[in-house]
Amino acid sequence: MNIREHAGYRNCVNCDADDSEIMFTFTKKWLVEVRSTPSEILDRMNIDDNFSSSIVKCKNCGCGYIKDVIESREPNSEWSQEKIKENIEFYQKLFSRETINHLQYEYSLIKNLLDLVLQKKKDNSELSLLDFGSSLSILSPMSRVMGFSDVMAYDPLYPNNISEITPQNTAINFKFVTDIEEVKAKAPFDAIICQSADEHFYDLKGDIKNIYDLLSDDGVAYFSHPVMDLDGDIGHLRNEANVKDKKTISRLRATFHVHHLNYVMPKMFKDILIRTGFKEIKVVMLKQRVAGVNFFNFSNLKLFFKSFAKYFLGLLGSNYRKTEFFLEKYK
Ligand SMILES: [Zn+2]
Repeated sequence: MNIREHAGYRNCVNCDADDSEIMFTFTKKWLVEVRSTPSEILDRMNIDDNFSSSIVKCKNCGCGYIKDVIESREPNSEWSQEKIKENIEFYQKLFSRETINHLQYEYSLIKNLLDLVLQKKKDNSELSLLDFGSSLSILSPMSRVMGFSDVMAYDPLYPNNISEITPQNTAINFKFVTDIEEVKAKAPFDAIICQSADEHFYDLKGDIKNIYDLLSDDGVAYFSHPVMDLDGDIGHLRNEANVKDKKTISRLRATFHVHHLNYVMPKMFKDILIRTGFKEIKVVMLKQRVAGVNFFNFSNLKLFFKSFAKYFLGLLGSNYRKTEFFLEKYK
């Protein structure tokens, strides 16, 4: 079962140049010895002794990306009944006590998005939302609860039988979709969310353009783009076997792996958005409030002031470490 649907060699994901230097190479030996990756995972991904996948840096624009991409999805795969049950249980746990702070953060994201859509939308028709690259996201059911009536969760990595977990005979109905053509048939959308997904895009600019094309002319898009600082962490990554600090190790493991294909820093990412035709809408995005604690509690005030500081830095044009972008089409 050798898959590699998207496997291939890429030019720079920002400027298309084919001129890069290798920063770091993942090999089987490294994955086993440094990351202790279990052999069943390596086997599933067809990683053998000849495997290598390299993070490179474009010599033309400085963008970081994986040049030789491995894609481990099996084409036409289906979840077994057991796997479906497991995934539903996992999904249900995303709505539970331990996730309350995160849920509140997602709530404030959709609330901001909803306000912007309502301000812009001139007619009285129902509201639609697309969660692009959604995985098993809580945003789809949550946006449904908050008033978007036509909600689609799209992810090309879903199995073909993803619709078996789609809620149908309930009030909170929305649709899981794995085929981009099905998404296009429903376009345009009033709101599109792309939360921590673009680092996985094989065709980064192509998918951002897809999002632009799928958005209605008076719609609003939201990107949450992770900061994955290749320059800042490359020394640690090369020396990961000897890193002792637990926080650094967990950051390295979460950030640098063969499925994170694009290491685009915020300023460059915003440039790509602007070149695609988007314009940023500056929003004070309140970070997750600590639930069950008074608003004037120190922990909440700290988050509150951080949010405002970020907003004002954004107004001044600083995009360093910026992770959230609300966007409309440039007119
Ligand atoms: Zn480049």
